[in-house]
Amino acid sequence: MGISSLCFVDVCAFIVFQLYPLGLEGVRNYSVGPVEASDLVGCRYRLVQRERYPDVPSTHASLARAERADAARAAVHSLLSSSSKNFRRVDLGGDDFAREMATLEAMAAGVHLITNARFRYGGWYVELDGLVRDGEAYLPIIVSNHRVAKKNPHATLPGVPTHRLGLSAPLDLPYKLRHHPVDGYRLALGAWGLQESDLDSGRGVVIGQDRETAFVVETGDYFEATERALATLEDLPDSPRRVKECASCRFWEFCRPELERMDDISLFLPGDRGRKYRERGIHTVHGLIEANLGEPSRLAAAWERGIPLLKRPTFAPPRRADVEVDIDMEAYLDQGAYLWGVWHDGAYHPFVTWQPLGGAAEGENFHEFWTWLTELRSATHARGETFAAYCYSAHGENHWLRSSAERFGIAQNEIEEFITSEDWVDLFLDVKRSFAGPHGLSLKTVAPVAGHAWAEDDFDGEASVNARRAAVAGDESARARLLEYNCGDVQATYRIREWMSAGAPGIGDL
Ligand code: SF4
Repeated sequence: MGISSLCFVDVCAFIVFQLYPLGLEGVRNYSVGPVEASDLVGCRYRLVQRERYPDVPSTHASLARAERADAARAAVHSLLSSSSKNFRRVDLGGDDFAREMATLEAMAAGVHLITNARFRYGGWYVELDGLVRDGEAYLPIIVSNHRVAKKNPHATLPGVPTHRLGLSAPLDLPYKLRHHPVDGYRLALGAWGLQESDLDSGRGVVIGQDRETAFVVETGDYFEATERALATLEDLPDSPRRVKECASCRFWEFCRPELERMDDISLFLPGDRGRKYRERGIHTVHGLIEANLGEPSRLAAAWERGIPLLKRPTFAPPRRADVEVDIDMEAYLDQGAYLWGVWHDGAYHPFVTWQPLGGAAEGENFHEFWTWLTELRSATHARGETFAAYCYSAHGENHWLRSSAERFGIAQNEIEEFITSEDWVDLFLDVKRSFAGPHGLSLKTVAPVAGHAWAEDDFDGEASVNARRAAVAGDESARARLLEYNCGDVQATYRIREWMSAGAPGIGDL
C-alpha cells in the first residue's frame, strides 16, 4: 500500500488495524506489559521490579539522562528542515495514544518529515525522533547520545547533513558504523512499525553525538538481534543479580536486601564476572571463600571483611623524577576536551575553556596546555634533571592528546614522542602490578586507601557530564564544581604515588 493510494476510508481501516493488530510474528504479550528498546538491554529483573513497584520514582541519574536525550532531540529537531513549498514537516505532540494515531495519519497523508513519531504493537512500542519519507516509503530516525560512527578513511557509510534530511540523497562518507544495541533495537522496532503499514524502506537514520550528520543504515541488520532480545523476555529472572547499572537503579533498595539474604556471588563479582563460579556450582560469596581457589577466594574474603586493597608480591613503587606533574583531562562526550588539569609544585593549574568545543577556544586552550607542559619538560631536561607527568589510566588522555593535536595543528610525532617516552607515566599500570582489590582498582577505590578524600563524594562521570552542560550555559557554581573535582583527581594521583613510594603502609598481603 503506497502513500498516494490511501483515501480517508483506507486511513480509518489502516488505523483500526494498527491499534488492534493481529501481532507480529515472534511478538508476544509479555506479562510485564509493553516494552521499549531500552528494556531490551541490561537487567531484565528491572521489568519484574517495575511491575511490583510501579510508583518508585526515577533516580536523579536517569532523570539527567532523559534531560540529555531531550536536549539532543531538540538540537536535532532545530537542525531539520522546516516546511516549504514542496516539503511538509509535522511535529507531533500530545499523549502517547494521540501521537500513535497522528503518526499513522501523517504517514497516510504523505508528510515528508514527521517528528516525535510513535508506534505501538502488541508487546512493544517505539518512540522515534522522526520519520522521513523517501518515495513511497519512510525511514525511522533516531537520535542517540552515543558516538554512532567513527571517522575511517578506509570505510564508507552513507550520510547526509542533518539539515538536508529528506531533501538530499545520502553520499558515501568516510566513516565506520559503531554498534550500540539499544540504537539497533529502536531502528528495528521502527522498521517493524513501518512494515505494518507497508511503508518500510528497509533503511533507517541514526544521528549521534555529531548532531550535524545523519547516517543511513540498513535496518534489517538489526532484526535478528532484536528478535533474540525480545525472546529473552519470555523467561524473566525470578531473583536479582548485581550488575553495573544497579548503582543507579531505582529498585536497588529492594534488590539489595534480596541479594544480601542470598549472599549472592554477584555482590562480590557483578554481572558476568561470577559466571565461571556459578557454572561450578558456587552461587554465594561464602561458597567462593570456602572453595579455596587462591586469589579469587582471598579477594572474596577481603570483600566480606571490608578490606579494599591487598598488596601483590609484585609490588613496586612508581618511577619518580626531579620535576613531577599530575594530569587529568575532562572531555565532553565525543565533542572535545575542555579541561586539562595539572597538579605541580603543590598547586593546581586548570587549562580550561567553557566555550563550545571543536572550535578556536578548545584549540587555544589545548595549545596553552601543551606549550606549558612541553616547555616545562624541555627546561627540566636542559638542566640535566628528570621529568615525569603522571595520570591515572592514560587511555582517555592519550586519545584526546592525539585528537587535539590532529585538530589543532600540532605535529603527531611530537605527541607520540611524549606518549611513548618514560616521562609519561600511567600510574594505573603501577597500581595494577602492585595491588588487587575486591572492588577493582579505580582511582575512587585506591586513592582513599592512600589517604585522599574528594571534596564531593558522589560527583561521578555522569554528574560531571551534567555539570559541564550547566557550566557552558554560564552556571558559575557548576564551573567551580568541575574544577574542584578535577583538582581532586590530580591530587589523588599525587597522593597515591607518594603513598606507594613510602611502601604503601597499612596494606595486607594478598
Ligand atoms: S537494582 Fe540491579 S538487579 Fe535490581 S532491578 Fe535494578 S539493575 Fe536489576
